[in-house]
Amino acid sequence: MDTDTIAAISTPIGEGAISIVRMSGPDSIEIASKVFKGKNLKEAASHTIHYGKLIHPETKETVEEVMVTVMKSPKTFTREDIVEINCHGGFVSVNRVLELILENGARLAEPGEFTKRAFLNGRIDLSQAEAVIDLIRAKTDRAMNMALKQMDGRLSRLIQSLRQKLLETLAHVEVNIDYPEYDDVEEMTLEVMKTKTNQVHEEIEQLLQTARQGKILREGIGTAIIGRPNVGKSSLLNALAHENKAIVTDIPGTTRDVIEEYVNVRGVPLRLIDTAGIRETEDIVEKIGVERSRKVLKEADLVLLVLNYGDEWTEEDENLFKAVEGMDVIVIVNKTDLPRKINMDQVKERSKQYSLVTTSLIQEKGIDELEQAIADLFFEGDLDAGDLTYVSNVRHIQLLKEAKQSLGDAISGIEAGMPIDVVQIDVTRAWEILGEIVGDTVSDSLIDQLFSQFCLGK
Ligand code: GDP
Ligand code: ZN
Repeated sequence: MDTDTIAAISTPIGEGAISIVRMSGPDSIEIASKVFKGKNLKEAASHTIHYGKLIHPETKETVEEVMVTVMKSPKTFTREDIVEINCHGGFVSVNRVLELILENGARLAEPGEFTKRAFLNGRIDLSQAEAVIDLIRAKTDRAMNMALKQMDGRLSRLIQSLRQKLLETLAHVEVNIDYPEYDDVEEMTLEVMKTKTNQVHEEIEQLLQTARQGKILREGIGTAIIGRPNVGKSSLLNALAHENKAIVTDIPGTTRDVIEEYVNVRGVPLRLIDTAGIRETEDIVEKIGVERSRKVLKEADLVLLVLNYGDEWTEEDENLFKAVEGMDVIVIVNKTDLPRKINMDQVKERSKQYSLVTTSLIQEKGIDELEQAIADLFFEGDLDAGDLTYVSNVRHIQLLKEAKQSLGDAISGIEAGMPIDVVQIDVTRAWEILGEIVGDTVSDSLIDQLFSQFCLGK
């Protein structure tokens, strides 16, 4: 078990002028006391915050003005003593604080090590730990709520109740195997087993059905805005970004200059593809229009195809329609403030299987309708995220599929008249697989692998 004290910069979610250096472990308070000038932290009550200065113990130089939070074991995230040092200022000063802490006895935490300690100390289960990863990555409020819900243990409780059902069934079988003298016991047992197994099988199926939406909420819907030059693609991008406060992020694990732009439309996170392409090609007169469109289409889950109301339908428009066949498309006829030149009957005919919206972006008209069309497409009516347990984690989805498979095997085994102990193996397997989701039957190497995915400081 870890007994040293770890430290890292724990970057808060969202932007902010305040950075936090977090320490966890038995020496946290001792180490903080060495460098903190202010209240005696060793005498501070748990969960209190104190203003003071960080002083270098040798040079006596003031490093930072800080607020220090003291949280004592066991009522903390890791169940260890935690000290959080809040400092304003940017990257440089927060790094100086971290350095000072490390010089005075803490060890730099590995990625995910705080959460790993919380898990190992029984504070959270594995699916909750993974929810922390999702939380860090959550791009929109909705995805954030989903991650929080999972952290609440909602998914865990559901999985536990499924496991409980399977366990009861297995216990039932054990009892009956111990008393084989009754006739038709085997038959009765198989009947109970079949019913219960079917129930759990169905519940897993339902969980998996939420998985697609869950994934979308977590990663964002890859959205391509395409159309001929000058139809209003950039204007559309700006309208969506203004209305919905675009979030620009670095993609984790790639080079610094790759950015992704997210907008949150009625709770649907759109990950806008190649916005640089839309924003930067203005001067080059977008010669590459259709070429570029083909490229971004490869990545897209959703296409916003823009047409010009004030211009005739062209062959290029026709080509774009061909390129998006079979995809989720919203057709936008923009510039309705201009005299109509486009043949709307033709547009309607061509857009039969898609949503069709008319806009005048310059007059800010039609944007509401467009947003509604986007929401409708992905939530098919009035899906209320608050009431659903989403499964959005790839590992969970995989395990649920495997558990479902094992239960399916059990059910067909029963139907084919297999001996009960054979069926039992499949049910036990499903029980074990479900256990992996909440970390009950999980191997050490898997734990290490999972926690290494964390950002530093979590
Ligand atoms: P893009 O080339 O497809 O990205 O088109 P832009 O968004 O750059 O727009 C091209 C021109 O059309 C700009 O001068 C816009 O101001 C103008 N524009 C955009 N939307 C409208 C609209 O709804 N009505 C009118 N009249 N002009 C628009
Ligand atoms: Zn443009």
